[in-house]
Amino acid sequence: MSQAHPPLSAQATRRLTRDTEPYLSCDDCFDQVDGYVEALLADPDHDLPAMRTHLAGCTACAEEARSLIMLVAEQDGLDPASAGRRLGAE
Ligand SMILES: [Zn+2]
Repeated sequence: MSQAHPPLSAQATRRLTRDTEPYLSCDDCFDQVDGYVEALLADPDHDLPAMRTHLAGCTACAEEARSLIMLVAEQDGLDPASAGRRLGAE
């Protein structure tokens, strides 16, 4: 008799969060930070609002992302400066 609440599709979630502050938990952030850092290094204009917002407000994750940028940049012979700037790390 009870009707299960249909899970939100990724698209619906995006639509819901677009106009408000994108919210990401530290766990979500941790799951995505590798890909985010690599994308930033490949393209400094890459944007992932939820990640950007979380990293702007969470020192622990920002620190993690920053050291990851340095690590990946060094491994791949890339310049970490522009990607680091995207994190607000001058
Ligand atoms: Zn965090």
